[in-house]
Amino acid sequence: MSMREYDVIVVGTGPAGLFCAAHLAPAKVLILEKMKLPGRKLLLAGSGQCNLTHSGDVKTFTGNYGDHGNFVKPSLMACSNETVMDFFEHRGVPLFTNENDKVFPVSLRADDVLDALLDACDEAGVEIFYSEVVKSVAPNNGGYSVQTSLTAYQAKYVVIATGGMSYPGTGSTGDGYAFAESLGHTIVLPEPSLTPVYVDDHLLWDLSGISLPAKVSIWHEGKKLMTREGDLLITRFGYSGPVILDASRWMRAGDQLRIAFTPLSPEEVDTLLKERTAESGGKQIQNLLSGLSCPDRLTRALVEISGIPEGTTGGQLTSKMRGALVENLTGFPVIVERVGDFGVAMCTAGGVPLAEINKKTCESKIAPGIFFAGEVMDIDGDTGGYNIQAAFSTGFVAAKTILRMLCA
Ligand SMILES: Cc1cc2nc3c(=O)[nH]c(=O)nc-3n(C[C@H](O)[C@H](O)[C@H](O)COP(=O)(O)OP(=O)(O)OC[C@H]3O[C@@H](n4cnc5c(N)ncnc54)[C@H](O)[C@@H]3O)c2cc1C
Repeated sequence: MSMREYDVIVVGTGPAGLFCAAHLAPAKVLILEKMKLPGRKLLLAGSGQCNLTHSGDVKTFTGNYGDHGNFVKPSLMACSNETVMDFFEHRGVPLFTNENDKVFPVSLRADDVLDALLDACDEAGVEIFYSEVVKSVAPNNGGYSVQTSLTAYQAKYVVIATGGMSYPGTGSTGDGYAFAESLGHTIVLPEPSLTPVYVDDHLLWDLSGISLPAKVSIWHEGKKLMTREGDLLITRFGYSGPVILDASRWMRAGDQLRIAFTPLSPEEVDTLLKERTAESGGKQIQNLLSGLSCPDRLTRALVEISGIPEGTTGGQLTSKMRGALVENLTGFPVIVERVGDFGVAMCTAGGVPLAEINKKTCESKIAPGIFFAGEVMDIDGDTGGYNIQAAFSTGFVAAKTILRMLCA
């Protein structure tokens, strides 16, 4: 029996696959999806509210993709946040930007974003087959044969948009890496990214739920790797919140984190303590610490952890106690036991190496006619809408390149 033939087969109905297929008209396009329903991970995005991109100048986005912004840049320029916002607004999904510059649908429903993508695919005449697991992609007859759990198809071009490995229950189980390897690619070890951190000897566990602005530096084998600022969430087993999630791609078990719970420097906190003690030395220590932007419960805990007995006044504070308190407020040391695994990570670092993909077209440099879009590539962005934006932008670039090739 002859195989059904398409111009393009897209593997995966995540934001990358759907956005790509929606821009492929008038080509004959099939999307193959292993799950019964489309876009399972997209529906979880932003806690179901879907932070689909970020506002502001897209040129500034490149810093939000770790060391890989240079690769994403041409895609972002070809399909910017404005392009994405126009796409949804024109399809009846009004958007708004929150106080952190994150862009959401006004309805705060990820379903609306998914429905708009599916409608666009429908209008473009795209066929979608569900519950069809792609098993292999292999060169055949000048194009590619795509073998699924049910049958085989033939296409001139294949877009691998299978996502990463996080939240495997959504269908993203790293299948695309095996396809890429079979076509001659190498794979950068996939690791969880945008994930909470679990720490040894978690002294603040009973403050879980407290969220505050903080500065976190990562120390690896005694050397400072970087410092990040943003909202920190204390959890029962460690820390989360944007500042931790964004920095998690660089954290390893055994690293030390130093957390500044106040924007003041150690010298400023030291001076403030001395001045306030001179003014009101009879006051208890925690009362001398007001105005540090650190919640009272946390301040009390840090006073205790610093070995300062309850009820100690400013006048009774020894320089050793003051030193410990200053350190704990401005560089609270914790050791990373582990970062969250793929079950809790929102993203995957690693994947198809960017050196093996043309950044201007998203076409494989190794297997011509094979394209990659979205998280299957070694791209992981910060929280704030950067991952879905990258999925849209790379899917768009793959689509436009394929259309040019089909017309040539
Ligand atoms: C809880 C959570 C919240 C998030 N929130 C946000 C957010 O608010 N903003 C943001 O920018 N990012 C967010 N992300 C990240 C973002 O959702 C992903 O980066 C994005 O979905 C990646 O898109 P993708 O199309 O590359 O892959 P995916 O969305 O992972 O889609 C891949 C698709 O391919 C299918 N597939 C895989 N293998 C096969 C196969 N063999 N055959 C057929 N089909 C296959 C999968 O079933 C899946 O449907 C969040 C992630 C999580 C887990």
